[in-house]
Amino acid sequence: MKKHNFSAGPCILPEEVLQKASEAIINFNDDDLSLVEISHRSTSFVNVIENARSLALELLGLENKGYTALFLQGGASNQFLMTAYNLLNKKAAYLNTGTWSSKAIKEAKLFGEIVTVASSEDKNFNYIPKNYSIPTDADYFHCTSNNTIYGTQMKSFPETEVPLICDMSSDIFSRELDFSKFDLIYAGAQKNMGPAGTTLVIVKNDILGKVERIIPSMLNYQTFIDKDSMFNTPPVFAVYTSMLTLEWLKKLGGIPFIEKVNEQKSALLYAEIDRNQLFTGSATIEDRSHMNATFTITSSIASEALKNKFDTLWKQANINGLDGHRSIGGYRASMYNALPLYSVQALVDVMQELERTS
Ligand code: PLP
Repeated sequence: MKKHNFSAGPCILPEEVLQKASEAIINFNDDDLSLVEISHRSTSFVNVIENARSLALELLGLENKGYTALFLQGGASNQFLMTAYNLLNKKAAYLNTGTWSSKAIKEAKLFGEIVTVASSEDKNFNYIPKNYSIPTDADYFHCTSNNTIYGTQMKSFPETEVPLICDMSSDIFSRELDFSKFDLIYAGAQKNMGPAGTTLVIVKNDILGKVERIIPSMLNYQTFIDKDSMFNTPPVFAVYTSMLTLEWLKKLGGIPFIEKVNEQKSALLYAEIDRNQLFTGSATIEDRSHMNATFTITSSIASEALKNKFDTLWKQANINGLDGHRSIGGYRASMYNALPLYSVQALVDVMQELERTS
């Protein structure tokens, strides 16, 4: 039996996607060639990347609205740099909600003045700041929709005149939003889409071409738009697997369907965290993430023995990847789109067993 995989990524993929992807490694499209052996310029692969790009826009409700979907390389981390390179003339505004936002800010500072409109660092990023204003002369506002490490998630986004840029690496395709409010969205594939190696970028075409600097070809969105995401050899396996996951999601009923499942999963787990005296949730309740639930053993009763017992129980229950991020410790249950509800039930059962036997 496959493990209940609560890992924060990479990566959790639906069984049927893994099956099809592994078959394609041996024999793609019955051509007696592997997916990774064929030319990326072949009709077979061009169809794959075109399908993946249009599925991404379709699922987000952004078809025919002036956006382009690109599959790039360099991870979401390269987008910290690329967004600023392409869009920052003088000044940009950033919301600092954790490690990934901080890294985005660090890169952007190479290109201009950065105004950090608010930060939740004072409480180790366990909440989302709400009261801030965005300078109207900023070239854009950047935020991180879901903070993978801390288990917080933005439930609403500011109304602003300036272009809105969002790192959605760990909650893309997981919930309904008005995606047309965003001017640029990026997400590493390796949480809700596919293996590491490609990054989805959704860019509104008319925000480009406004900076004065010369942008190197490989860091210029326009290069990839002009070449249909094929300026250089794309990571064919990561793109193909992402396409399969997007097809899977569409077949299930798209974002409206998966959002309901994600809400059921997170409601089940948070109810147990709040009911069971042995555990304490780490993030502020109103900002809790539906994707990454962070919690600890309640500090007043925590002991090495209790922790060891819990760790033994969840490992025995075939659960994987529950340790918190190395920078904050505790536990983190990541419940990406492909994690079934019964896996969350398996974790809740273990939490209750710990309570019964302690
Ligand atoms: N942004 C968020 C929200 C993340 O969770 C991560 C990685 O987990 C990153 C950015 C960095 O992504 P990558 O490793 O693809 O550069």
